[in-house]
Amino acid sequence: MTPEVAETIAGLRARLTPVRRAGARIGFVPTMGALHEGHASLMRHARRASDLVVVSIFVNPLQFDRPDDLVRYPRTLGRDLAVCESCGVDVVFAPGVAEMYPEETVCAVDPGRVADHLCGRFRPGHFRGVATVVLKLFQIVGPDVAYFGEKDAQQLAVVRRLVRDLNVPVVVEGVATVREPDGLALSSRNQRLDDEERTRAVVLYRALEAMRADVESGSTDVRDITKRGAFTIAATAGVRLEYLEIVEPEKFQPVRRVDGPVIAAGAMWVGDTRLIDNVRCVPRGAEVAGR
Ligand code: AMP
Repeated sequence: MTPEVAETIAGLRARLTPVRRAGARIGFVPTMGALHEGHASLMRHARRASDLVVVSIFVNPLQFDRPDDLVRYPRTLGRDLAVCESCGVDVVFAPGVAEMYPEETVCAVDPGRVADHLCGRFRPGHFRGVATVVLKLFQIVGPDVAYFGEKDAQQLAVVRRLVRDLNVPVVVEGVATVREPDGLALSSRNQRLDDEERTRAVVLYRALEAMRADVESGSTDVRDITKRGAFTIAATAGVRLEYLEIVEPEKFQPVRRVDGPVIAAGAMWVGDTRLIDNVRCVPRGAEVAGR
């Protein structure tokens, strides 16, 4: 069935309030649209575990640190609705910017130290924008469970922290990264790559996999492990590494030595497209129930 589309907060609330009162379980997937199989995986998880599935499609200006990136961000609402339909989504919330931010100044959420490194270092204000819009969406939708991709591992950590620190009554579920057959993580920004760029783009995943292999085979010195990863990228023409870092998985702080599960994360430019990816690395003998 075609999902219902709500463009206003009042309209969405009118639709969801009786559902919630009836005790139905609401699953929520926040997105910025240009939907692909990664998003679809989140929606299917939500579909399996919820009575009513809500997807939001909103390109959030507050989280863009570069105006050109915001302007060029793909917007494909017609196709997105077809993806939502194929995943059994009930309601799509697709507000305009004026609906979400009717006034210029916004009371915002400071995500704290979890946003200090990785993308937080290179995209000033990004996670403040993410945390703010996610809290607004949680207030608007009132979901029981919300689904986020591990592809954006730092974002997931920020959201977990936000929910814990601000006592938001929602369960946050992380969903594994969906990849192309060669390993490239699906991303809305992949649409911008030409054929040559697409071929090169996979080197970020290869570098992260090399780092994971190092950790699994007993390397503990983060400088050495990162250097080897960076070397893999440096050997590829036409790409520029922004960062490669190893952090512990909860607070996202860098570590010097690996003595438990860590996350290797990187950002890389291919032409004028910025791609991010991460992998979880578990040293032999340190496997614990993963989150
Ligand atoms: P976005 O539309 O980029 O804001 O992403 C919306 C949600 O989809 C976020 O929770 C992302 O982490 C998730 N997501 C994006 N790409 C993937 C992927 N390749 N695999 C799994 N989840 C993804």
